[in-house]
Amino acid sequence: MGQTSDVSDPAVLLDHLRDVPDFPEPGIVFKDITPLLADAKAFRLAVDAISEPYLDASVDIVAGMEARGFLFAAPIAYRLGAGCVPFRKPGKLPYETVEHTYDLEYGTDTLAAHVDAIGPGARVLVVDDVLATGGTAAAACELVEGLGGTIVACAFLLELGFLSGRGRLEGQSVMSVLTI
Ligand code: AMP
Repeated sequence: MGQTSDVSDPAVLLDHLRDVPDFPEPGIVFKDITPLLADAKAFRLAVDAISEPYLDASVDIVAGMEARGFLFAAPIAYRLGAGCVPFRKPGKLPYETVEHTYDLEYGTDTLAAHVDAIGPGARVLVVDDVLATGGTAAAACELVEGLGGTIVACAFLLELGFLSGRGRLEGQSVMSVLTI
C-alpha cells in the first residue's frame, strides 16, 4: 500500500518529487514523480490541481504524452468527463499514425498519434508531467492541430522555468501547477 500524507496546498507537491542527478544522462537532474504517484493524497491533489482550471472549459479530449503524461492524462480526462488520447513513441500505436519529430532536453524524439484520434473541432487539453524545453508539448500541439483539433491549453504538473519551455508554446495557453 502506498504512503499517504496530509496535503492541501499544491506547493507541498514539490516535497513529493525526487531529484535524480545525472539521469538519463550526465548533467540532467531528473524530476522523479513516482513518490508523488505513490502517495494517495498527493496524487489526488495533483490531478485536481491540473484539472481545476478546465472543469468548465468543455474539453473533449485530454491528450497525454508518453510515458509519464499518460499517468495524469487518464485521471484528468475522467475528472473532466473527456476522452483520453495517448501520444506515443513511434511504432507503439497499432493503427495508422501521424508523427512529429522534435528536440528534447536530452536528444531528439518523435511523437505519434492515431490518424483518427482527434476529430475536427475537438477541444483538446494537452497534458504532461514536466515542461522542460517545450519540444514535446510543441510537437503534441502540432499533432493536435494537424488532426484538426483546437488546443484549449497545455497543462503540466511541473515547469522547469530556467529552460524557457513556454517560449516554444507561443500562442498557447500554458498552465503549470508548480514552477521551479
Ligand atoms: P521537453 O520536451 O524538453 O519539454 O521535455 C519534456 C518531456 O521530457 C516530458 O515528457 C518529461 O517527462 C521529460 N523530461 C524532460 N526533462 C525532464 C526532467 N529534468 N525531469 C523529468 N522529466 C523530464
